[in-house]
Amino acid sequence: MAATKGAMLYEGKAKKLFETGDPDRVVQYFKDDATAFNAQKKGTIVEKGVVNNKVSETLFRLLEAGGVPTHFVERLDDREMLTKKVAIIPIEVVVRNVVAGSLAKRLGLKEGEAIAPPLIEFYYKDDALGDPLITDEHVRLMKLADPATVAQIKELALKINALLAPFFRERQMILVDFKLEFGRHKGAVILADEISPDTCRFWDQTTKESMDKDRFRKDLGKIEEAYREVLKRVCG
Ligand code: UDP
Repeated sequence: MAATKGAMLYEGKAKKLFETGDPDRVVQYFKDDATAFNAQKKGTIVEKGVVNNKVSETLFRLLEAGGVPTHFVERLDDREMLTKKVAIIPIEVVVRNVVAGSLAKRLGLKEGEAIAPPLIEFYYKDDALGDPLITDEHVRLMKLADPATVAQIKELALKINALLAPFFRERQMILVDFKLEFGRHKGAVILADEISPDTCRFWDQTTKESMDKDRFRKDLGKIEEAYREVLKRVCG
């Protein structure tokens, strides 16, 4: 299917969205720009866009095969994929299998402790507010999603985790945690955005070293090498 790239609809921190000739389809372009701490830290990770595009493609295909509806249509080239146009639900859904990041900091829990069953958290997607942690009650108060949609999102998030965790385990990676965004397309709730080293924490099973954006957040070095290694293990 030929997709003609039209006007830019939106430019985010890591991606740009473009119109196509089809009102139901958009082109998602992956940039090398990296930000952290609500964009207070900015930088470039060379070839990150290519890695995130290809890794997302592989994971969206895996999820679709496992019965999870996603916005993925096809990968167009190194940095672009064609996706279904969605209205994003402004909730960042985080799934956690191991204590890390803001969870360790907020609650004083020990980084590296296993979490079973997995923990689901909601954050209100609002840069000006710094994406605050919210509960189902806040979702209801702010009318971000109705209770049936919240239930569906939680079910999908757990299903996605159940499909992804073993996939990474087979590749000697621990899926520590990850962030999902869902959108509405023709009345259905589907997975949108990306699944990549920008939005997940992966630890090497043997060394427990970070293979994700934490290398950028914490200035751990060898950032490009880590992204390339994720690409190699995920896409072969
Ligand atoms: N995450 C993300 N975008 C955000 C915040 C978090 O993709 O705006 C991902 C992050 O990469 C990690 C997970 O969500 O895999 C949990 O992040 P956490 O709440 O620990 O926040 P952080 O420590 O990254 O600030």
